[in-house]
Amino acid sequence: MVSSISTQQDQFRLLPSIDELLRSEGMQAVMAREGRAATVAAARRLLDELRARIARGEMDQAQVMAAVEEAPSELVHRLRETMAYSLRQVINATGVILHTNLGRAPLSGEALRHVVEVAQGYSNVELDLATGERGKRDVHVDRLFARVFGEIGREVATIVVNNNAAAVLLTLNALAEGGEVIVSRGELVEIGGSFRIPDVMAKSGAVLRDVGTTNRTRIGDYEQAINERTKLLLRVHRSNFEITGFTEQPSLEEMAAVGRKHGIPVMEDLGSGDIFGLSSIGIRDEPTIAASLRAGVDVVTFSGDKLLGGPQAGLITGNRELVARVRKNPLFRALRVDKMFYAALEATLLAYLREDYDAIPALRMMRLTEEQIDERAEHMMRKLHISTPRLNVEVVQARSVIGGGSAPGATLPSRALAVSSPEMGADEIAMKLREWSTPIIARVEEGRVLLDLRTVDPSQDEVVLRAVEGTSN
Ligand SMILES: *Cc1c(COP(=O)(O)O)cnc(C)c1O
Repeated sequence: MVSSISTQQDQFRLLPSIDELLRSEGMQAVMAREGRAATVAAARRLLDELRARIARGEMDQAQVMAAVEEAPSELVHRLRETMAYSLRQVINATGVILHTNLGRAPLSGEALRHVVEVAQGYSNVELDLATGERGKRDVHVDRLFARVFGEIGREVATIVVNNNAAAVLLTLNALAEGGEVIVSRGELVEIGGSFRIPDVMAKSGAVLRDVGTTNRTRIGDYEQAINERTKLLLRVHRSNFEITGFTEQPSLEEMAAVGRKHGIPVMEDLGSGDIFGLSSIGIRDEPTIAASLRAGVDVVTFSGDKLLGGPQAGLITGNRELVARVRKNPLFRALRVDKMFYAALEATLLAYLREDYDAIPALRMMRLTEEQIDERAEHMMRKLHISTPRLNVEVVQARSVIGGGSAPGATLPSRALAVSSPEMGADEIAMKLREWSTPIIARVEEGRVLLDLRTVDPSQDEVVLRAVEGTSN
């Protein structure tokens, strides 16, 4: 319908001014909540849109009047959407414990309490309370790391940066800039999210000297490649894939021996690995930091979330003099972390020292038995059979994984609720679960939605139940 010019002008006259709109009922409260600037901007945008629609002849008189009538509630609705958090809590029903897209490790209650306590006011992050002089932020966790790793036969130091990628970049730059770093061709890995050893090496200013082959590298390959430009021997943990079959890789002891003989430090990028004894839950052969250090590796880098189930962080542990050199590098200043990270790390490390593994959510989830998960799953299934007979709900075997590129190939036996419906596809059910007030992230497999309960905190079971019920409405 196209209106004539004169009626268009009448329609424009029906629109309130921004001031009039902001004086309408309830708008004062909205402005107090969302801020004047955001409210004015939203009001201006809404009126501009209405003006444009009138100019295009898209509205009749009655429609304009209705839009003006609804303008205040429309504004409230829009502001609620644009002023809401984008980063939200979700429920992880994927069974992937350290899910990179879902924030890897949930923090422990104690870690969060300590973060709040330290961050809501001032703290001694860089103050030595004994002397009143300036201190170093490292001390808060350095003292604990040494104890967590256990007996390694020599003094080590640990410093903290943003993430393990930063730890690798910084260590390479500090120890090998302008020189060569020898790495096996079987270890030129890519870790999800574009961390690639050759690229990080290039950015560090060190020259990659790759030796051996994809499947076999011998200690002699390293030794032959050593020359006067060699600054470092690097071992990279194949943390997210396996090479099997006709393979060979020198032991860390052999690498350390060659390093010592030529006066060249050995660095290991471990990334993830084992710290509390994964073998107790049936996952074997994950390397430990203590074993690397005992084998004679000089510096080890690893992730605070992948290895510890703590905050995202990169840890650099090793010989005191080498770590001191890394710490003096100007990049350390650029990559260091905030007091909140130290607080979260400190609390996480103390839980390890107390052997209170269930206090750390990621470890608690790893340690859940199949029976414990089965009991919850059966209980939830029975409730859903009664409340939502239109859905098909079964308890099925599932395999959870540690994730975050840790322990590739290793899975933990688990239970999942398998949900399907004669009226709705699995993708649609999964989408409805993602749209729940606390979004629920699930897997779709063979036409069913699988909710692996290992990664769902039992306190969230009720929410999951309500959301699954909600999908059939
Ligand atoms: C995960 C990983 C990285 C990257 O660590 P982020 O903490 O994700 O930055 C680097 N190297 C290895 C071997 C890893 O497993």
